[in-house]
Amino acid sequence: MSAVEVATYKNYVDGTWVPARSAQVMESLNPATGEVLGLVPKSGPEDVEAAVQAAARAYQSWRKVPAPRRAEILFRVAELILQRKEDLARLMTQEMGKVLPETRGDVQEAIDMAYFIAGEGRRLHGYTAPSEMPHKAAYCVRAPLGVVGVITPWNFPMAIPSWKILPALVCGNTVVFKPASYTPLLGLKFVEIFEEAGLPPGVLNIVTGPGGAAGDALVAHPQVRVISFTGSTETGLRLAEKCARLGKRVSLEMGGKNAAIVMPDADLGLATDALVWSAFGTTGQRCTACSRIIVHRDARAELTERLVERARRLRLGDGLRPDTDVGPVVSESQLQRVHEYVEIGKREGARLLTGGTRVADGALARGYFYAPTIFDSVRPGMRIEQEEIFGPVTDLIEADSLERAVAILNGTPYGLSASIFTRDINAAMEAIDDIETGIVYVNHGTIGAEVHLPFGGTKNTGNGHREGGTQVLDVFSEWKAVYIDFSGRLQRAQIDRE
Ligand code: NDP
Repeated sequence: MSAVEVATYKNYVDGTWVPARSAQVMESLNPATGEVLGLVPKSGPEDVEAAVQAAARAYQSWRKVPAPRRAEILFRVAELILQRKEDLARLMTQEMGKVLPETRGDVQEAIDMAYFIAGEGRRLHGYTAPSEMPHKAAYCVRAPLGVVGVITPWNFPMAIPSWKILPALVCGNTVVFKPASYTPLLGLKFVEIFEEAGLPPGVLNIVTGPGGAAGDALVAHPQVRVISFTGSTETGLRLAEKCARLGKRVSLEMGGKNAAIVMPDADLGLATDALVWSAFGTTGQRCTACSRIIVHRDARAELTERLVERARRLRLGDGLRPDTDVGPVVSESQLQRVHEYVEIGKREGARLLTGGTRVADGALARGYFYAPTIFDSVRPGMRIEQEEIFGPVTDLIEADSLERAVAILNGTPYGLSASIFTRDINAAMEAIDDIETGIVYVNHGTIGAEVHLPFGGTKNTGNGHREGGTQVLDVFSEWKAVYIDFSGRLQRAQIDRE
């Protein structure tokens, strides 16, 4: 597509597609080719204001739509995404680079989430409890909160927004969505589907634009009652401070420094398959990516040889090509960041076994490609062992016992995902008990969460909330306790005990 043919997209506010009030636009680029895919509104606080006002108005009627009826619209959303799965996946590969089988998975996750959470429309269970008084009933129900602000990253442009928007809506809230600036088109296509499914105007609004302007205005807006954020720890903690001052609820899903333990009795073929997938899938740009492999001394030589051999065979390229294993990283700045960490690792004394360079030969010259990279002789405490790199880089760390391996695994400020490879059930159970992460896998890599289980992490990965599962409903609803006294007289709790 030449520059003159590039499509211009609009925000969706109050059921209408509108440009930014400033009329400014920003580009969405293909990280594999540098091609401009579209122009989207570069929105600012005035656009956020309009979207929040629309959402606040729509809330008054949406909260009164019975939850099973709200869910019917979400079932239609699931059907529409399913029909468009291939087109959405192809656009996603173009917009953020990951290979087509993975973008199909990303879209599938949104479908799974839509079906799962629409089912919750007929549950949203509260509970009844006996009262301490005679002739008195007591129960509790989930109540919506109001306008929810959804702020998402670029690495899962449909899956992550679906984890937030769908449960927020089924609970009866309305939403203003600000997608990542690297993936605005997927955000807009996602919202189009809700419009087509029959969601009333104002219930879901999207405003594209920079985090510092549009995102910040959303967080600061007094009528936004909840912020649901996924992104870097740095941004998330800053948002949390602002939300605390404003007294608003905030759910944070942030960074990870995930590790897998490989014991000497493990199936090393399986471990190699799983670890290559966990470290280099999505070009390492997953919050659950395996960036540390803690290998028992007795398995180290063989596992290292297998991993390096496999990493060297991975083919870099445009994610739309069927022969590509690993796509580009999302941007030039992300590429620089990855390379800086590689230099830090070398300076710290880690041994580079493979990778460690940008790849820009032939067809790759215009994209942001980085060779799958493995470091050996990494010691606990090194920066490459502690800090999230968010690229195709993994570390090998030796341990001489399960106890030591678990201590190394737990020794970072993050706590999202972990795994252990072993055929010893006792070792596996001990690890499950002692690992301090929100997700633990046995004989599987660190990636592969399913929508109907809680997703999230401990320590600096989050702030205690979970997405996925029915646990996500706790983010988007609050409990209302109801007491119905049918005794016909004043009964004072805790006082009238006769
Ligand atoms: P960022 O934190 O930079 O951005 C995330 C979102 O926040 C984007 O929409 C961004 O907008 C927005 N934002 C940025 N600054 C502000 C601000 N001041 N106020 C409000 N919103 C703001 O992260 P990335 O997009 O770079 O994503 C990568 C990071 O996300 C990684 O560190 C990764 O670990 C983490 N992540 C965590 C996951 C988890 O579940 N734990 C899942 C996926 C990713 P804009 O794009 O315009 O800058």
